[in-house]
Amino acid sequence: MNIKNRAATFLAGFGACLIVLLVMGAANSPPSPVEPALERDVYYPGTEALGTDEMRVIACGTGMPTTRAAQAAACFLVELGNGDKFIFDIGSGSAERISSLQIPYDFLDKIFIGHLHADHFGSLAEMFIGGALMGRQGPLRIWGPNGPTPELGTAYAVQKMKEMYTWDLSGRVGLVDFRGYSLEVNEFDYKAENAVIYEHNGVTVRSFPAIHALDGPVSFSLEWNGLKFIFGSDTYPNKWFVEYAKDADLAIHECFVAAPDLISKMRFTPEAALMVGTQVHTAPEAFGKVMQQIKPRMAVAYHFFKDFDTTAGVNDRIRTTYDGPLSLAEDFMVWNITKDDIRVRMAVVEEATWAPPLAGPAEPPGGDADRAQFSKDSGVPMEALLYSDFIKEGRWSEVDEVLRGVYQEASENLGREFPYPERE
Ligand SMILES: [Zn+2]
Ligand SMILES: [Zn+2]
Repeated sequence: MNIKNRAATFLAGFGACLIVLLVMGAANSPPSPVEPALERDVYYPGTEALGTDEMRVIACGTGMPTTRAAQAAACFLVELGNGDKFIFDIGSGSAERISSLQIPYDFLDKIFIGHLHADHFGSLAEMFIGGALMGRQGPLRIWGPNGPTPELGTAYAVQKMKEMYTWDLSGRVGLVDFRGYSLEVNEFDYKAENAVIYEHNGVTVRSFPAIHALDGPVSFSLEWNGLKFIFGSDTYPNKWFVEYAKDADLAIHECFVAAPDLISKMRFTPEAALMVGTQVHTAPEAFGKVMQQIKPRMAVAYHFFKDFDTTAGVNDRIRTTYDGPLSLAEDFMVWNITKDDIRVRMAVVEEATWAPPLAGPAEPPGGDADRAQFSKDSGVPMEALLYSDFIKEGRWSEVDEVLRGVYQEASENLGREFPYPERE
C-alpha cells in the first residue's frame, strides 16, 4: 500500500468510527438542559450561608502600589461562622472590591493594618467616608502598629488623614446621618511578639514583627474555633513568621514580582530590582522556603501582577522550594475553610452596586446640633459650616419652582409633609 492509499484507508476508518460515536451519543445523551445546574464552582456573594464552624476568606486586593484595574492592592476580608468580619490591610482600590460583596457596612468596621505603605492602607479614606455614607452607623475601628517615632505610627497616619478631610467632613456634617463619620484607633507595639491585640466573641488576633523598609511593619494571626488564619502584610522572610505562623490553616505571605519581570515590565534597574525584589520584599523562591518550613494547610501567595505571561514563572520559582498546597491569589479568590476541607473558588460579583442593606434604621440629618459638636471637635468655627451671605446670594431663584415640586412629590408619595426649606 502506498502512502496515498494508506491515508485514504485511515480516513475512511476514522470517518466510520466518528459516525458510530455520533449515533451512540445521540441515543445516550440527556436532553438539552433547561434547569439551573446543580453545582456551580463559583461563589456568588450573598447566596451562601456560612457554616457555624466555617471561615470564609475573600481576596479584595492582591496587587501592587502601581495601580491597575485588574488588581487592587493588598486587602483580605475574613468572615467567620459566628458573624464576625475582619479586614486585613485596605490597599488602594480595595474598597470597590469590598463594596461589590454587598455586606452592611456596620459589619465592616474592623480593619487591621500591617504597615503604612499606600498599597496597604490607601483605601482607608473610602471606607471611612464612603462606608459612613453607605450606612455605617458607628465608628470605623482601626488596629495598627506604632513606629520608632510617633509620626511613623498608625495613630498619626489616621489623625492626619482625618485632618486632610476637614473640608469633606465640614461639608457633610448637619446634612446627613453623621454617626459613622468617626474613627477609633488602637495602636499597639510593633515589637510585641505574638501579643494579643484583639480578643472578643471567641476571636483572638495577635501581632508579631515583620521586616520591611523601616521599623514598624507587623504580621497578624487570627484564631477562632480551632482555625488559624495568618496575614503577613509585607515582609522579608523572618523568624517570627516561621514561628508564629506554624499550624496555620491559611497562611498568606507576600510573594513579590520576580526580579526579571521587575526589570523587563516595571522598568526597574537591575540593582533596584534585586534590592526591592529580594531584600525589601520576599522573592517567590524565598516565599516557597518559608512555606516549606511552616507547612500550612494552604499557602497563599500575593503581591505580584498575576498575568498570563508571568504566573507560570512565579509558580515555577515557588516550586523550586515548596511542594505543598498553594494558591496564587488574585482579586476575588475565595477560600472556604473548615477543619476537614479548604475549598478554593473565584467570586463572581455585581460591579454596579448601590448601598447594601442597613444594619439598623438610619437617622435624619442632625443639623446644627451635629455642627456644634463637630465645630468643637475640629476647631472649624460654627459660622464656617454654613454658606456665607456672599454665596447664599448667588443662588438662582428660578429653580425654586421645580425643586418645590420634588418636595411635593415626596410628601405625596411618602404620606407625610416635607416642608420646603425657606430662604433666609
Ligand atoms: Zn510595603
Ligand atoms: Zn506592599
